Amino acid sequence: MEPLFQSSVDEVDRLVGLKKEELSMLEDADAAAGELLVSEFEKYVERKFNPEASEVLKRHDLMGVPIDVKYGGRGARQLAESLFLERMGQTGMGVITFADVHLCLGSLGVQDWGTEEQKGRYLPKAAKGEVVFAYGLTEPEAGSDPSSMKTSYVKDGGGYRLKGSKYLISNGSIATHMLTFARPEAEGKKPTAFIVDTKSDGFSVDMRLEEKIGLFTSDTSMLTLDDVYVPREDVLGEEGKGFSVAYSSLLNGRIGIGSGCLGVMEDCLNQVKERATSRVQHGKQIAKHQLIQKHVAYIESSLEASRWLVYRAAMKKDECDRDRKDLRLRADADRLSAVAKYVSSRSAFESADRAVQCFGGFGYSIMSPVAKHFLDSRVARIYEGTDEIMELKIASSVLGQEFEAYK
Ligand SMILES: Cc1cc2nc3c(=O)[nH]c(=O)nc-3n(C[C@H](O)[C@H](O)[C@H](O)COP(=O)(O)OP(=O)(O)OC[C@H]3O[C@@H](n4cnc5c(N)ncnc54)[C@H](O)[C@@H]3O)c2cc1C
Repeated sequence: MEPLFQSSVDEVDRLVGLKKEELSMLEDADAAAGELLVSEFEKYVERKFNPEASEVLKRHDLMGVPIDVKYGGRGARQLAESLFLERMGQTGMGVITFADVHLCLGSLGVQDWGTEEQKGRYLPKAAKGEVVFAYGLTEPEAGSDPSSMKTSYVKDGGGYRLKGSKYLISNGSIATHMLTFARPEAEGKKPTAFIVDTKSDGFSVDMRLEEKIGLFTSDTSMLTLDDVYVPREDVLGEEGKGFSVAYSSLLNGRIGIGSGCLGVMEDCLNQVKERATSRVQHGKQIAKHQLIQKHVAYIESSLEASRWLVYRAAMKKDECDRDRKDLRLRADADRLSAVAKYVSSRSAFESADRAVQCFGGFGYSIMSPVAKHFLDSRVARIYEGTDEIMELKIASSVLGQEFEAYK
């Protein structure tokens, strides 16, 4: 399994030069992914959440991959973080969901938008895994359209009281803190981003969503905030700028999901290669049948095409991080992250489907290594922006703001 991933690392290193620290982080990622394979598969078969994901990442010092070294993280650029998530993606989208939410949405949200005091308070603990983030944007009546958000807040002394429900939240019942969004009760005012301590009075997990069609190893929960008090020092970014925080975290998150999808395709390719060269039908290895080769060619081409899109988006994001004031660069990074997520999530699901096909009847069994990818990768076309929302976003980035479909 490793050679495919290693060739990515070698190539990126040859082209852009990875730092010594990034290379050693990627060695740790390789070891962690190797360790996680077994528990991920066992928990998937039992249809259970896998608590090992965070434990293994902690053990290998991977809970703070993109967090600055001065806050105790590994200081990886987006490109190196993408390689990390690519390797993790070989274990499946369960680990990716956990890591993407904690790292790309939560930790980077605080790193990009937090005050020095907030960064000092949260990031060292996040890097150690003592703080685990969730990201609560979706609500029962506000999915693709966050502007219909109902969660509201009122000011109370030196802080705020939040009231509302957050729905389908990954890491929702295991997180210590959630980045979340609420609007002032007064009509017409814009939402604000908050860091909410999940141990606060009034914060409750109503339900863990167990009846998913896949992604069993990842925690997905429904949450209620009933007059949850949040002190002023836990407002993230400026009051009224909640959507800027939400969307910039999603830019990071979409590159993360795209990166995980590369790992899914790599594993599909490896599994198909192994199966198709060992299974014999009509007197020869099925890999010698040209129609099976068509599937192999599809997966390989999709993987290579998606790799370029994901790495390109990651490099643009790195460029953007060097000059945070350049709004044109940010818009480019936003467009490229949507393209990368859109193409690689569709390709990962199609690759998993073709891998199931190559496995034949065994592919349809829960016990086959590719069925897990088939069930798990479907979600990547839904969360952090559905296919349709990505299409609208990509189209308006080409056509211009006046063609935005829902403004
Ligand atoms: C397993 C899982 C984990 C998740 N984790 C998180 C999380 O950690 N945090 C979080 O905040 N959310 C999370 N989500 C929620 C996810 O982001 C939403 O499900 C997603 O954004 C879609 O919202 P919705 O489900 O309300 O669908 P809807 O918005 O109701 O959409 C239904 C359909 O209508 C389409 N549609 C909507 N508007 C338009 C339009 N204008 N034009 C064309 N088509 C449109 C959509 O593309 C979709 O096909 C998770 C979801 C799942 C399934």
